[in-house]
Amino acid sequence: MGKVFLIGAGPGDPELMTLKAARALRSADVVLIDELVNRGCLAHARSDATVIEVGKRGGATATPQEFIERLLVGYAGQGKIVARLKGGDPFVFGRGGEELEALYAAGIEAEVIPGITAGIGVPATLGIPLTHRDMACGVIFVTGHSKDGSGPDWELLARTGMTLVIYMGLKRLAHIASALLEAGMCPDTPACAIENGTLKNQRQVLAPLAKLAQVAVGLASPAIIVVGDVVRFAAVAAAQAAARAA
Ligand code: SAH
Repeated sequence: MGKVFLIGAGPGDPELMTLKAARALRSADVVLIDELVNRGCLAHARSDATVIEVGKRGGATATPQEFIERLLVGYAGQGKIVARLKGGDPFVFGRGGEELEALYAAGIEAEVIPGITAGIGVPATLGIPLTHRDMACGVIFVTGHSKDGSGPDWELLARTGMTLVIYMGLKRLAHIASALLEAGMCPDTPACAIENGTLKNQRQVLAPLAKLAQVAVGLASPAIIVVGDVVRFAAVAAAQAAARAA
């Protein structure tokens, strides 16, 4: 019997992958890689490994999840070491749980290697301390787009006073922002949207919550949205970087 490593490749920049992930990748005969994973991560794979690209981002036709699970079970059943390379952390909005269930059901050995999720790695790179104790007593990771098409209860989330980190929220940003405002969140609450965080082609916009949807119009997926007083730090970091560059 082979084995499957469910690996989190980190938020984008290949240097944000863990040493453990790199080691597991080096051991793999077969690598199943998601679209979101930077191809630079494959530098750690063996040159004779079979690399299979799976998965498309929201909207495009996805490689059906069942097909991916069949590949994992099939290769491991043939005695291969399989690396399933996923963006961020495999269990944060990443269907890693479903893949693990399929492996358990088939009696295949699986090892999960955590990764830095985009919701942690991307804000940190911008200098945003998600739980700075003067400004937030916690952070909530939430998807703007759930499986059945309904969203989370924005009113409830607004009332928590915690930093909100929203995955897959770009398309519904106007709706999300107005729902948070209607729930009583201050229109001046600092907010930002970051596309391709931690990568060379990263783009971000900072704006008060009431204006975020308007200024984020040109951004594309993958993007993450952060709402809360802690986002002020991103403006400070940007101003300091600009001053140093001048
Ligand atoms: N398992 C992944 C998330 C998969 S869902 C993780 O832990 O990060 C895909 C969503 O993650 C994207 O739509 C986007 O909201 C977010 N995301 C992933 N990589 C990103 C990046 N480099 N920059 C901004 N957002 C990113």
